[in-house]
Amino acid sequence: MDKKLLDILVCPVCKGPLDYDKPAQELICSRDRIAFPIRDGIPVMLEDEARSLDASAADASAEDGG
Ligand SMILES: [Zn+2]
Repeated sequence: MDKKLLDILVCPVCKGPLDYDKPAQELICSRDRIAFPIRDGIPVMLEDEARSLDASAADASAEDGG
């Protein structure tokens, strides 16, 4: 992804800067602890599509790291 593009992209939630996680192909907002996916080189800047980076969740369902 273009570094220039990353420069102009901000988090749609907090309007803060994003970190580019190249191996994961994600844009990470460290403030909100969410990651936006990059699909075919296109960042998907939708809160709906973002995944939470917080491991702690309210529900206590079994979780397998893998
Ligand atoms: Zn944010």
